[in-house]
Amino acid sequence: RAKARGRGTFCRYDQAMGSAALRRLGLEAELRDALAREQIRLVYQPVRDLAAGRVAGFEALVRWSHPGLGQVSPAEFIPLAEETGLILPLGELILRNACAAAADWPGATRLAVNLSPVQLRSAGLAALVGDALRAAGLHPRRLELEITETALLQESEEALAVLRELQAMGVSIALDDFGTGFSSLRHLTSLPVDRIKIDRSFVSEVGSRADCRAVVSSVASLARQLGLATTAEGVETAEQLRLVQAAGCTEAQGYFVSKPLALGDAVALLRQDRAQRADAA
Ligand code: C2E
Ligand code: MG
Ligand code: MG
Ligand code: MG
Repeated sequence: RAKARGRGTFCRYDQAMGSAALRRLGLEAELRDALAREQIRLVYQPVRDLAAGRVAGFEALVRWSHPGLGQVSPAEFIPLAEETGLILPLGELILRNACAAAADWPGATRLAVNLSPVQLRSAGLAALVGDALRAAGLHPRRLELEITETALLQESEEALAVLRELQAMGVSIALDDFGTGFSSLRHLTSLPVDRIKIDRSFVSEVGSRADCRAVVSSVASLARQLGLATTAEGVETAEQLRLVQAAGCTEAQGYFVSKPLALGDAVALLRQDRAQRADAA
């Protein structure tokens, strides 16, 4: 028992737990409120096609600007939303808003939306996605859903069947943060996946560590032979971009390509990108 360890220990322990719980309770109520008022917005990070040199699509990333706390990171509030079940209305809001935004983008520009494993396990996900696409007038081929490798490895046959159902509708599936879980090669051939997103932890060391360079090029080459696309995440320098391209990654994402953008800036970038290509042609 904490008490038996002495008063000092007990107090520190109790205070730490108390403030974490308070922050958590407070944030939960705030999150509920923000959701009701739709005070949560999306930003869009470009993904560049390395062969064509053009913007292939955008990943929608959720942002919560809290009046008192400032920017609360999704790394903090998504797990909280998952624990409290708020991820279901939040995830639906994100999906519907992102699909509506992407419907106005020119051409076949892809929209990637992150999916929580809680959403994957919820009843009627495929129907919800279908409805969001129809309501927005977005073709299913333009939507990609990202699920982390760690999450996907824990999923049941039922959850994998939902992903196959989504794929049958034309939606593609990306394995996010690849390399941080423990995928066996067997998984790569059996999981319903169209793209591998190589985790930033490998990409950020691709210029400084030969072992990370070997991982990136091996994953890219394996993916190519399995017919999967590869995105290098977290590309921050020109050298990293050159190296992930040389390693055979098909796409790159990261601050060197662009930081996540407000919707208006994303659309402006897309127009500029297409105009440049029309000039070059
Ligand atoms: P993720 O899906 O792997 O998203 C990439 C994260 O890396 C984003 O952080 C992005 O801003 C950041 N990033 C992009 N390029 C760079 C770079 O060059 N350097 C560095 N240091 N970071 C870079 P963000 O937006 O804070 O999101 C963190 C995580 O939160 C996401 O990781 C995703 O797992 C989760 N998340 C974000 N939005 C959503 C959402 O709408 N739904 C769900 N379920 N999860 C989300
Ligand atoms: Mg992602
Ligand atoms: Mg990722
Ligand atoms: Mg990540």
